[in-house]
Amino acid sequence: MKIGRFSIEQLSEGRFEIFSDGTINREPVNQSEQESSTLGKSGDSARIGINPILISDENYKVLLDTGLGWGLDAGSSYKNVSNIASNLDIFDLKPEDITHVILSHLHYDHAAGSSYTNEESVTCATFPNADYYVQRREWEYALEEQFSEHNLKGCDYNLDDLYRLVAEDRFHFLDEDNIEIIDGIDIIRTGGHTPGHQAVRIHDSDETGYYLGDLLPTEYHLNQYSMRQMDVHPLDAKKMKIQLLRNAFEEEALLLFYHSLYTSIGRLEKDDNKKYVLKEPR
Ligand SMILES: [Zn+2]
Repeated sequence: MKIGRFSIEQLSEGRFEIFSDGTINREPVNQSEQESSTLGKSGDSARIGINPILISDENYKVLLDTGLGWGLDAGSSYKNVSNIASNLDIFDLKPEDITHVILSHLHYDHAAGSSYTNEESVTCATFPNADYYVQRREWEYALEEQFSEHNLKGCDYNLDDLYRLVAEDRFHFLDEDNIEIIDGIDIIRTGGHTPGHQAVRIHDSDETGYYLGDLLPTEYHLNQYSMRQMDVHPLDAKKMKIQLLRNAFEEEALLLFYHSLYTSIGRLEKDDNKKYVLKEPR
């Protein structure tokens, strides 16, 4: 998939079952298509995909969110599952090749792949040559929230492994609501899902794409404006979502989804009831 000069690849760690207490299990692979055909709930769990996004041009390799990172640690029992490193390998890339990592927010299903533990039990950056971009507000909120009891809205914060990256000055804490980090890649603070949640706009040669993180986790959330159990500030989420979807519709932009099970990319159209529907590209 192309957006102007950028190549867009969706990496997939697979499908997971997420429980209402925020814990995540790898979904059994023999689940029948029908059973897993919706983001639907079986008891108190839901199925989600984990799909980090790779944006490349001649000079840059940019990653949007880093996945769960299962199997990255030395001695992990998940060595044979796909993770961000094994996904990059498919495109002949190594973690060292990544120049920028943009974290939509710091919930562990988006940020845990940022680091791993080596044989000496030392926490290391998974992408040693990358600058990591996160909103300062997100870090501060995560520090406040990580030990709180209500920190169970979907996926919580697990910052232990991120301290090392912060100490090594790998994180750029953004104070801007809107900033272009390289020509054609803008970060937009949205708040809503978390106070420091951010989205990404990709644009080149009149083509545009949006990655809205957990503001729009799957195609099933297109016309759903409030996710009360999920969003810290549902009204902010609604406001930003309306605005960004309107822009994406007008710009005929590609939308990229992190948690979709099936359709993880598409363009917006409107149906007869003026509801958004997703059209798969090409
Ligand atoms: Zn998420």
